[in-house]
Amino acid sequence: MEQAEVLRNQLLGETLVKNLQKRGMGAYYCATKEEALAKALELIPEEDVVAWGGSVSIKEIGLLDAVKKRNPVIDRELADTPEEKAELMRNALLCDTYLMSSNAISKDGELVNIDGNGNRVAAMIFGPKQVIMVVGMNKVAGTLEGAIDRARHVAAPINAARFAGLGTPCAKLGTCADCLSPDSICCQMVITRLSRVKGRIKVILVGENIGF
Ligand code: SF4
Repeated sequence: MEQAEVLRNQLLGETLVKNLQKRGMGAYYCATKEEALAKALELIPEEDVVAWGGSVSIKEIGLLDAVKKRNPVIDRELADTPEEKAELMRNALLCDTYLMSSNAISKDGELVNIDGNGNRVAAMIFGPKQVIMVVGMNKVAGTLEGAIDRARHVAAPINAARFAGLGTPCAKLGTCADCLSPDSICCQMVITRLSRVKGRIKVILVGENIGF
């Protein structure tokens, strides 16, 4: 990454930390993936039961592997049946620490998330004692409208492409067509303005391009 980009990420990251704190969220800027991993592990007590929503970012910084080794976890991928998987997803709503990213974030600190099943945004809104988000600076938009646009036209189509065989327009066009398909991964669109419980949502901003 160019030095100018490193500096821009740091300056914008520091601005964003202040704006997130004004919204009742914990906020941290980490220049690298390694720093972000260390910060996340520092925020998670070793006895916490940890669960997570689908996120490339938490995998990319090594957080998922680290908590699987260190903490009791609820891992829905270990389920043997769809019924068991659904039960684990329900249990995850009452875990201690929930890990996720955000599909986009405005420079003013509004979080934008799109979800199909809704389990990820449900846990973000209520249930787990704390929610730790790992968000690359590539996901920051200048405005709320820009963040919504990013979530709909960048993050969602890429997410859809990860699931082979989806019958959604974005899986064929690479952009959102505002579909009503039964396969849609965009059933819920959530804008988070504030964390009512101070510090329950903690955002770790990472000065590298991670996730999408
Ligand atoms: S086309 Fe449908 S599934 Fe794809 S991004 Fe748009 S609303 Fe979501």
